[in-house]
Amino acid sequence: MRWSLKLGKIAGIRLYLHWTFLLLLAFVFYVDLGEGIGLSGAAQRVIFVVTLFGCIVLHELGHALAARRYGISTRDITLLPIGGVARMERMPREPKQELWVAIAGPLVNVAIAAGLLLVLLAILAIHTRFLVSQLGFARSLMFMNLFLACFNLLPAFPMDGGRVLRALLAHRLDYVRATRIAARIGQAMAIIFVIVGLKIRHPMLMLIDVFIFFGGRNEAHIVEVGRKLEAAEPARQYSPNYFLRG
Ligand code: ZN
Repeated sequence: MRWSLKLGKIAGIRLYLHWTFLLLLAFVFYVDLGEGIGLSGAAQRVIFVVTLFGCIVLHELGHALAARRYGISTRDITLLPIGGVARMERMPREPKQELWVAIAGPLVNVAIAAGLLLVLLAILAIHTRFLVSQLGFARSLMFMNLFLACFNLLPAFPMDGGRVLRALLAHRLDYVRATRIAARIGQAMAIIFVIVGLKIRHPMLMLIDVFIFFGGRNEAHIVEVGRKLEAAEPARQYSPNYFLRG
């Protein structure tokens, strides 16, 4: 992705940081300082956001490694203020495989939350002063991971839950029709998100709306065009890049 800084490679997949992500960190720091929580309090919130995005990288890696099992490679993972985006060479056509690829990301967040719960219980059992002071950090991270898993599983195609829905529909219906229905439900969800985003004044939710609304429509279009091209030229598999946002 353009305007991105290469951070390195995980499991052979290039990891990038989009420059707008640095703007997000600066924004968090500025807002927290304005709230009067002091320099160290604001720095701690920035560390929290960075740690949370570390969890998001693991979420994307969950998708990428599940896809690899089905012979699909992931070109790269980029961190944006709206979350991580994994760029895959294609999506599996087999509904069961798409279901596993889509659900692998949220499952990683559930696993992290379960691990953090064990850490919290251990801290409470050991009860040293330093560790108890870190309780809030671990607890917030646990709840944010649970939130990420639930939010991504909402049936808002092309988000993870929407892909799960498409896979379930495609199990019984024609693939193009299943995609069209999932995209329509996704667009209805995007409208609900706009209303909620306006009400709670959440700019990130509004940006995610744009991704869902246009991303879903775009993918439904790609699937329809792909079907026509494959009908005209059966030997050729039409497979543009797919973006998974987590
Ligand atoms: Zn995801």
